[in-house]
Amino acid sequence: MGLIVQKFGGTSVGSIERIEAVAERVCRTQADGHQVAVVLSAMGGETDRLLDLAHQIQPDPAPRELDMLLATGEQVSIALLCMALRRRGRQARSYTGAQAGIRTDAAHNRARIQTIDPAALRADLQAGRIAVVAGFQGADAASNITTLGRGGSDTSAVALAAALEADECQIYTDVDGVYTTDPRVCESAARLEQITFEEMLEMASQGARVLQIRAVEFAGKYRVPLRVLSSFTEGPGTLISLEKPNMEKPIVSGVAFNRDEAKISILQVPEKPGVAARILGAVAEANIEVDVIIQNTAHGASNDLSFTVHRNDVPRTLTALESIKAEVGFAAIEADDKIAKVSLVGVGMRSHAGVASKMFGTLAEEGINIQMISTSEIKIAVIIDERYLELAVRSIHSAFGLDAQGIDNAVQEQENERI
Ligand code: ASP
Ligand code: MG
Repeated sequence: MGLIVQKFGGTSVGSIERIEAVAERVCRTQADGHQVAVVLSAMGGETDRLLDLAHQIQPDPAPRELDMLLATGEQVSIALLCMALRRRGRQARSYTGAQAGIRTDAAHNRARIQTIDPAALRADLQAGRIAVVAGFQGADAASNITTLGRGGSDTSAVALAAALEADECQIYTDVDGVYTTDPRVCESAARLEQITFEEMLEMASQGARVLQIRAVEFAGKYRVPLRVLSSFTEGPGTLISLEKPNMEKPIVSGVAFNRDEAKISILQVPEKPGVAARILGAVAEANIEVDVIIQNTAHGASNDLSFTVHRNDVPRTLTALESIKAEVGFAAIEADDKIAKVSLVGVGMRSHAGVASKMFGTLAEEGINIQMISTSEIKIAVIIDERYLELAVRSIHSAFGLDAQGIDNAVQEQENERI
């Protein structure tokens, strides 16, 4: 018998029918002998609807009032679920974030959880009651209602699981797990049985959007085993945990990608100390995050510097750079948003040489030019022409044996060996 936190997202509670299905799921978990705390999102589309109402009045509503409004979405779903549970003869109680003891800082619309006092929930669980908590919200020290930023109920669930010392935090969503890559781009993407927190963080920050990044960070920090599952189909989902217990670790776990970035190139930058610092400093001062950076080798007295920023930040980046152009003395600035980033992720890279060369070789075979490269211990990312994104993802996925077919074959080969 264990303590399980189950979180259901917007589509999972999108209608009365879906809420009834969630109630069934929660009852089954309790019937299996577990204590269950549930965290819910607002019914699908509800948060957007509320935002739209606010924006019909004002483009820029007061953050405190916006939180007051947005927090109502989750209150609807927790109350309805408790009714559905009670109709099934279960004892269940709903809690707003504040009632569940979730204390945040005062940063409305993007608050951070500071402490959780889980005493009330614990008492419920120990008495055999199901505690149903509104995700995405908390209260600051002055009891103002706060929200945690879009998608924040994943973070609520993980934080509650940490505070309750739950055995597992299960995130129910509309996909049945974390995939080796986006199945919409690569048909042979396979569901991963397991992935580490570190890998999941890289996958998420490189564009794989199954879970809120903050939730994964939180789970890693407090070592809360996370499981992503479908609320529509049965299955084991994907376990995200500290280490992969199976000995046979694959070298790579997945291929992530995004089209969110643009490349900024600064041409003929004078070759002298302090120049790159001045340029990137101007970008940082404008509060713009820089991702991949390359500097070409000098030809003569100058070189070219390129880096990527989020596409939305291009106009502000150009303004920041124009303002130092004369002072730094570079020739021109170019912006290219027809690029894409493809990243190969896996903790096994740490102990295996040759991963990068295999990845680059695969791209070369397809005639895809690599414009920029960035690496970490467990990731290799390349910037390429956006036109080749899908081809790049599919060929890398297959070169590293990630294709669903490939996994089946591998299992088959092992079986054959045994016979
Ligand atoms: N309802 C909130 C949103 O749509 C929080 C969540 O679903 O996680 O962002
Ligand atoms: Mg969500």
